[in-house]
Amino acid sequence: MYDYLIVGAGLYGSVFARQAADAGKSVLVIDKRPHIAGNIFTEEIAGINVHKYGAHIFHTNNREVWSYVNRFAAFNRFTNSPVANYCGELYSLPFNMYTFNKMWGVITPEEAAAKIEEQKKVAGIEKPTNLEEQAISLVGTDIYEKLIKGYTEKQWGRPCKELPAFIIKRLPVRFTFDNNYFNALYQGIPVGGYTQMVMNMLDGIEVSRGIEYLENKAELDKLASRIIYTGPIDAYFGYKLGTLEYRSVRFETEILNIPNFQGNAAVNYTDKETPWTRIIEHKWFEFGKDEEGRDLPKTVISREYSSEWKQGDEPYYPVNDEKNNELYKKYRTLADKEAKVIIGGRLGEYKYYDMDAVIAAALDKTKEVL
Ligand code: UDP
Repeated sequence: MYDYLIVGAGLYGSVFARQAADAGKSVLVIDKRPHIAGNIFTEEIAGINVHKYGAHIFHTNNREVWSYVNRFAAFNRFTNSPVANYCGELYSLPFNMYTFNKMWGVITPEEAAAKIEEQKKVAGIEKPTNLEEQAISLVGTDIYEKLIKGYTEKQWGRPCKELPAFIIKRLPVRFTFDNNYFNALYQGIPVGGYTQMVMNMLDGIEVSRGIEYLENKAELDKLASRIIYTGPIDAYFGYKLGTLEYRSVRFETEILNIPNFQGNAAVNYTDKETPWTRIIEHKWFEFGKDEEGRDLPKTVISREYSSEWKQGDEPYYPVNDEKNNELYKKYRTLADKEAKVIIGGRLGEYKYYDMDAVIAAALDKTKEVL
């Protein structure tokens, strides 16, 4: 008999497990996958830590979370600055003075702001109610058409007019030449990969992999007085109120016998014709891998394809539109009635969570229950 059975060895589950173990509780962590670390799992291929479930760049403004993760890994000073490729035209991201200069030839922040204002006026948007209107009112029609529309519709599989405005507010708009993608005080990639970081979190904690919780629920529930479930909330309840929508992602990963494929960790393909959304070149998340390839003549790249989730696929992004959020609320009401079970994390809370927010949520939960 354990105090806690933790279903899912991703970030939420691993943080919860660490805190519970440190509080003297007995803990068993199970995961259906053959590995720990959930979607931040990294695997070394050709000497490079490959982000197997998509690029994860740690960034936070939360000092408590930053010092917490630094207990388990040293972080390098990687700064995310993706490049957008629109039909062969390259633009700096997030939207900053380099972007505005390339798009319109403007030189000063004032000229850039005037250009956006002019395009916003022509579009006649006063109060943005969806992603398209939000985007145009932030950066104007040209940037929306070239750098946002195609990418967003590929990623979400829905017209921008039907998507919530908050998604685009994740991206900063800057009237400076600062192309750091995040507005966070702290940013970096764990040296040695995320898997090693999670392994350190789970140090001394019993972990069983390859175990399907929902298929063996009755038996597994007998093992512990409380359950922390971090899988999809609708799956937990057997989809009895309907299925929540997710976007899934598929990766095509290749090892290339060249030292440098694209010169940057992330290049976003923002046109609608290119079938992938972005290409990640994993070695550029780390340092000490020079572009001439003297220390590493190979490179590993992943093309990322977005698709609608169906049962059996990996759920990645919750589609937080009104319809899905309403359904989630109903599941949450059911979840709150489960005395023995806590349902948390990105899939358990159906939330477009960044890593730091997942950790903060797990830490808060442990403070509440332990
Ligand atoms: N986005 C875009 N063009 C880009 C990159 C992002 O329009 O080149 C929009 C798109 O709608 C996306 C959102 O910004 O869903 C958030 O992007 P972010 O990079 O935060 O997504 P994530 O890294 O979580 O996949």
